[in-house]
Amino acid sequence: MKIICIGRNYSDHIAELQNERPEEPVVFLKPDTSILLHKQPFFIPSFSNDVHHEVEVVVRINRIGKHIDKKFAHKYYDEIGLGIDFTARDVQQRCKEKGLPWEKAKSFDGASVVSRDFIKKEDLGDLNKLSFELYKNDTLQQSGNTSHMLFNIDEIIEHVSKYFTLKIGDLIFTGTPAGVSKVEENDVLKGMLSGREIFSIKVK
Ligand code: MG
Repeated sequence: MKIICIGRNYSDHIAELQNERPEEPVVFLKPDTSILLHKQPFFIPSFSNDVHHEVEVVVRINRIGKHIDKKFAHKYYDEIGLGIDFTARDVQQRCKEKGLPWEKAKSFDGASVVSRDFIKKEDLGDLNKLSFELYKNDTLQQSGNTSHMLFNIDEIIEHVSKYFTLKIGDLIFTGTPAGVSKVEENDVLKGMLSGREIFSIKVK
């Protein structure tokens, strides 16, 4: 399986990092080895002094497809989860300055938190109005709503499937809202999707 990630999909987060607003989705991939195993803590990697959490709505693909029109994209997923796209911001900044790829900053082991539970989309209502939050040590740190996405889930699927065949079990991280911040040892990161706690991660 592969993890397809969308960057710069919420204007408040684009503003906080002073990035340009994209005309089409910003896309990158993470390998399956980046998934943090369940019940494991997240270890801050030795090569970074500035790892940020990015909480994101995650879509799990349930059938194979290529060149999917957004009108039919909803047939390619039936469950939604929540994750963290951990980002070594200092490493990413150096890559960006040199125009280099971001994998070292985003695709290292443990850099992808995926909730164990996914929620059936029928139980979530309008997927274009989904609320989600990240609490750091019980303080609200990120609060998002999918209504603020520049590209919604179906538009993302249309776009990425032009380039990559989507396969069963592939995950799409749909971008983070504002509020990203550095994680420190002993932080506890809790993810909420549509009012339900869906993961809790300890940082080491
Ligand atoms: Mg991200």
